[in-house]
Amino acid sequence: MGNRLHNSIDWKEQSFKQYESRCAFLNEENLCDLYSEAGPGMLCKTCRLYPRHIEEFEGVREISLSLSCIEAAKLILGCEEAVTFRTVEREGKEEEYEFFDFLLYTKLCDGREHMIRTLQNRGLPLNLRLSLVLALGHDLQNRAGKGELCLADRLFDYFSREGTAKKAERKLERYRIGDEERFERMKELFSLFDRLEALKKDWPGYLKRIRETLYGKGPKEYGRQREAFLRSMGGGEAWERWGEQLAVYFLFTYFCGAVYDGHVYGKTAFAVVSTVLIQEMAQALWQENGGVLEETDMVDIAHRYSKEVEHSDENLNTAERMMAKEEPYRLRQLLGILYS
Ligand code: SF4
Repeated sequence: MGNRLHNSIDWKEQSFKQYESRCAFLNEENLCDLYSEAGPGMLCKTCRLYPRHIEEFEGVREISLSLSCIEAAKLILGCEEAVTFRTVEREGKEEEYEFFDFLLYTKLCDGREHMIRTLQNRGLPLNLRLSLVLALGHDLQNRAGKGELCLADRLFDYFSREGTAKKAERKLERYRIGDEERFERMKELFSLFDRLEALKKDWPGYLKRIRETLYGKGPKEYGRQREAFLRSMGGGEAWERWGEQLAVYFLFTYFCGAVYDGHVYGKTAFAVVSTVLIQEMAQALWQENGGVLEETDMVDIAHRYSKEVEHSDENLNTAERMMAKEEPYRLRQLLGILYS
C-alpha cells in the first residue's frame, strides 16, 4: 500500500493521480482501496465532503449538494416545495481576501435572490421565469460593465414589480422563431458538448444516441415530437417543478462566482442552458421510452449531465466562457429558444 500510495500521487499537482477521471484508488466496484485497507481515518477531504459542493467568498462559505450524486439528484428533483437556504453565522476571525470586489459580490447576491424568487414564482409559466432571469442577468452584466452597479437596485425594483412579467410576456413575442429555426438553434446549443472533454467512457455514445433520437429525422419530425412531448408534459406540475429546481440549483451554485471572473451573464446563461439541455435530453428519453418520462429518468439525465459538465473545471470554464461570449448564447438567441 505504501508503494501504491507513493506511485499514485501527482506530486506536482499535490493530488492523487486520476485514470479516466477516476481517483487512482477507486476499484472496479467504485470503492476506495485506501479506505478499505487503512480505515476511515484515511478518507480524503474530497470524498468526505462529497456530495457537498462548496463555494467560498470573503467571509462566506456556501454549501450545496451536487447534482452529480444520484441520491442528491433525487433530493433536488424530488423536492416539491420551493427550495430555501439556511444561513448560519459563526463567531471567528474575520477573513479578508487580497482582491475581492465587495460591491459586485453584494449586487450579485441581491441579483441572485431576485432571480431565485422569480424562478420560484409558480404563478408564471416556467419559460417566462427563465426568460426574466436571463434578462436580469443580461442587464446586470451591462450595469457592471458600465461601472453602474450603484444603479443595480433600480433594476431589481423593476424586475420585482407586478406588471413586469406581463409586459415581458408581450415583448417576448417578438423573439418567437419557427420550428425549423428552433431545430437548428437547439442543435447548435447541443454542440456545446463537442467542445467539452468527455469524462466517462460511455458519455460520447450516450450523447450520440440522444442526438440521433432528437435530430436524426430532421426538423419536421423534431417539431412533431416536441409538440407531442410538451402536450404530454403540459400542465404537468412535475415538469415545471423539475425545471425550476434545476435552474435554481445551477444559479445558486455558480452565479455569485462571477465576482471572480465578471461573467455575470455567462453564469446566468449557464443555468438556463443547462436546464434547457437537460429538458431536451428528457424529450429524447421520453421518445425512446414510448412516450413516458418518470422522475427517475430526470434524475438519471441530470446526474449524468452534472457529472460530465460540472466535474471538470476545464469543462465548466469552457462552458461559461462560451455562454459569455458566443453567438448561440446571446440573450436574443436564447429567448427565441425559450419562447418558441
Ligand atoms: S478517499 Fe476518495 S480521493 Fe481519497 S483515495 Fe479514496 S477515492 Fe481517492
